[in-house]
Amino acid sequence: MLSDNKMAQCKECKFYKPIDDAKGDCFGNEVPATLDSNKCPTNSFQPRN
Ligand code: SF4
Repeated sequence: MLSDNKMAQCKECKFYKPIDDAKGDCFGNEVPATLDSNKCPTNSFQPRN
């Protein structure tokens, strides 16, 4: 699953809703656009389609 993604970032996650260039909303929490998906606090990264 996660191992298929090389260094994906929050901005590529289907749960990410951009607020501006640097940050976005994820389940009501603000996250950095460039947060490494391997550091996702809830380990919920899913690629956008
Ligand atoms: S914190 Fe996790 S679920 Fe949220 S946008 Fe980033 S990778 Fe996706």
